[in-house]
Formats: sequence, C-alpha cells, structure tokens
Amino acid sequence: MLPLVALVGRPNVGKSTLFNALTRSRDALVHDQPGVTRDRHYGVCRPEGLRPFAIVDTGGIAGEDEGLVGATARQARAAAEEADLVLFIVDGREGASALDDDILKWLRKTARPTMLVVNKTDGIDSQAALNDFARYGFSDVVAVSSAHRQGIDELIEDVLAKLPEEGNTSELDTDPDRVRIAFIGRPNVGKSTLVNRLLGEERMIASEVPGTTRDSVAIDMERDGKRYRLIDTAGLRRKSKVDEAVEKFSIIKTLQAIEQCQVAVVMLDAGEGVTDQDASVLGYALDAGRALVVAVNKWDGQTDYQRQQAEGLLVRKLGFVDWAEAVRISAKHGSGLAELFKAIHRAHSSATREFGTSEVTKAIEIAYETNPPPVVRGHVAKLRYAHPAASNPPTFVVHGNRLRTLSDSYKRYLENFFRKRFKLVGTPVKFIFREGS
Ligand code: GDP
Ligand code: GDP
Repeated sequence: MLPLVALVGRPNVGKSTLFNALTRSRDALVHDQPGVTRDRHYGVCRPEGLRPFAIVDTGGIAGEDEGLVGATARQARAAAEEADLVLFIVDGREGASALDDDILKWLRKTARPTMLVVNKTDGIDSQAALNDFARYGFSDVVAVSSAHRQGIDELIEDVLAKLPEEGNTSELDTDPDRVRIAFIGRPNVGKSTLVNRLLGEERMIASEVPGTTRDSVAIDMERDGKRYRLIDTAGLRRKSKVDEAVEKFSIIKTLQAIEQCQVAVVMLDAGEGVTDQDASVLGYALDAGRALVVAVNKWDGQTDYQRQQAEGLLVRKLGFVDWAEAVRISAKHGSGLAELFKAIHRAHSSATREFGTSEVTKAIEIAYETNPPPVVRGHVAKLRYAHPAASNPPTFVVHGNRLRTLSDSYKRYLENFFRKRFKLVGTPVKFIFREGS
C-alpha cells in the first residue's frame, strides 16, 4: 500500500516548491511528456531503489470554513487527518509566526505523526533557523532548501524511516496467473457501471480479497477461463454520497490502485473528450510505468458525428500514449468488453515479456545502424550493446559512449524501434543509459 505524506504549512513557506522537488520524475522523458497535465496537489515520490510514497500538498490549512476556501481547507484537513506522516513546513528565514503557532495547535489535535521541516535554509545559518523553532518541541526536525534541492535526499530517508512497515502485500501479489487490473478515471466516466456489469456477467465467481490495510479491497474474477484481480479504487461498487472534499480525496485511492495493478485501464467518457483531469490520471499511470489500456466509455450514446469528433480528439489529445490501445466500449450495454479484455491481455503480456541479452543487443545494433544519433556540438554518441534489466515495464540498459548527448527525440526513436521490433503494445519501454562498457 502506498503510504501518504501530507505537506502542511502557512502560505509562502515553500510547500509547492517542496512538492515539486519530491514528486518530479527523474525521468524527464516521462515527466515532460507534452499533453500530460500535472495535478498540483497530489503526486508520488519515487526515490530510486526505495519505497514510493504519495504526497498531498494541503495548501494553506488555516482557511475559512466557508465557500471555496472552506472546501479547500476541509479537503486539506481530511488529507492531513488520514496521512501516515505530516510534514509541517516552516520558513527558516522568517522564523516562527503566529500562523505557524495556530497550525501547530491544529496538528496536535489531529495527533498524526509529524516532522518539522525548516525550509529556505540556503545561504543562512541553518542551526540558528532550527533553534528558532526549538520551542515547538519536535524531536524530528530537518533543515532543507527546496528551491536548491538541499537536504531533500536526507528528508526522504527520514520520511521513509517514519512510515509504517510495508505490511504483507503477498495477499495481492502471490498469484502469478492472475492479471491485476485497475479501472481508473475521473468521477462519472462509468467505472462502477463497468465493474458491476463484469461481476454480474460472471455470476459472482468473484470473491472479495480483504485488503492489507485500510479499506482497500480487491475482487477476483474469471472471464473466458482467464483469471483477474480487480484492484478496487475503494467503493467502486458501493457508491456512497460523499462530500466534494472526500470525492477529490479519492485521488489517493487512484494512486494506490495504480501502484498495485499491472495493467491500468484508464476510462474516458466519449461525450466529454479528454479533459485535463483525464490527462492527469493518465500521467499518474505513466509515472508508475504501468501497462495501459484506454477504454472510451459511453460509446452507445453517441451519434455518428459525435463518434467522429471523439475519434479525432483521441488522436490529438492522446498522442503521448499512442502506444496504448484505445477500445470503444459501453459499460451500460456491455459492448466492446471482449475487445477490452483482449487489449488488457496484449498489454499484460507485452509488459511482462522476458528478453534475452542477444536479441536486445541485436536490436540496439540495428536501431543504431539504421539511424545513428546526429552530431551534437562536434560529438556523436555511440551505442555499443544492451541487455534486459527488468520487466513490467520492459527496461533495457544500453552501454555506449557520449550517451549524455542523446536527444529526447532519439530516445523516443529507440523506444518506438523496440516496440515495433518486439511487437510490444500497451506498455511503456524504458532505457537506462550507461557510459562506457
Ligand atoms: P507555498 O505557498 O507554501 O506553496 O510556497 P511556494 O512553494 O509557492 O514558495 C513561496 C516562495 O518561496 C516562492 O517565491 C519560492 O520561490 C520561495 N521558496 C521556496 N522554497 C525556497 C527555498 O528553499 N529557498 C528560498 N530562498 N526560497 C524558497
Ligand atoms: P464512476 O463515477 O466512474 O464510477 O461512474 P458510474 O459508473 O457511476 O457512471 C456515471 C453515470 O454514467 C451513471 O449515470 C451511469 O449510468 C452512466 N454510464 C456509465 N456507463 C455508461 C455507458 O456505457 N453508456 C451510457 N450512456 N451511460 C453510462
């Protein structure tokens, strides 16, 4: 289960700067994907080789309780109250203020484990800055400069040490023959309708697998002799009337479902095109390196003209995931579901395919010879050999020289070359470039 860390603090202390420092993907090729919109409040920190955790930037917590500001403040509180760890961010330059004191009082009431993060300690005496907050009585205190990325790695280490144990994930992972899928998407695209239909059709071969923590639930089902585990994004089937703040908060559940699944099925509403929220959900699945299928739902309610419009939009707006299959379905009428599950299987087998070193090296040689990288400021990169490093998603290590000069477009060329050559559909393909042999 993806743990949740909340950033809390008064305005201007640097919460969103810290949020960016923690959640920006190291892989610029993924992060700067044109077409993906990024949610400014929810993200995942993926420290290399360490455990990922979700982050929510609660904005200014000491808001009014009325109107829009009130909704934001309520939402922030809901997030912080659920968090496994709260980072209380303060400004090391300005020192403690009355607003900080108020937030501290509120934090004490929530009784969540809290760490004090003194930000903006670049170019000042950080010990003096820490001392100014000594009266708050925190035993866990970290000095950072979010803007200059100083102390961030130490902060991540401290955070990981404070998070609850990983728990027993085996319940979700043990069965290698079960494809783990998550239906994700913004509210009202038809996720619950689809799940209910799937389970109804299966005459309840489905059974609930108790989640490891909190209220996560997985549902096992079979279809055409194949076995699946649906990772529930909490309450898919039992819809309750939750207030706006809590609805928004289910982004955390979406992030957790993405983390647990092998194939993410991103659902869209054919009548509404591809909204920013859709693109941001897609971005989360991409960041996690998940195999992907796009299910364009409510295809039943569309006229021919509307369908044409929708097709055009898909091509324009989803260019950044043109390797993912888009399937037109109607959850309401059950049409397109056979195609959907075929696409899920293609994505899953592509994502988990095993590779041999020789076929991978052969592929990189041919890719290189067919289209060598262009000369960059008098230098030209040389690709020598490659080997498989991981699956789900397929990851390859490429060895060579002057690899730093490889452009993003060349990297995308390699990706596409591998996709074609190995007939990979519906999965990201990753390369790690290693200088020398
Ligand atoms: P938020 O309102 O808490 O989300 O704060 P922001 O992240 O928007 O930052 C407020 C201001 O502080 C911006 O002008 C940032 O550039 C600046 N800032 C953030 N972090 C640092 C830091 O580590 N050092 C310095 N010197 N300035 C920072
Ligand atoms: P969720 O919030 O993503 O779980 O969405 P729901 O499953 O609750 O569906 C939202 C609304 O869309 C409901 O009124 C459904 O009846 C309707 N809906 C769902 N799937 C379809 C579909 O395939 N066609 C049509 N016309 N309506 C649908």
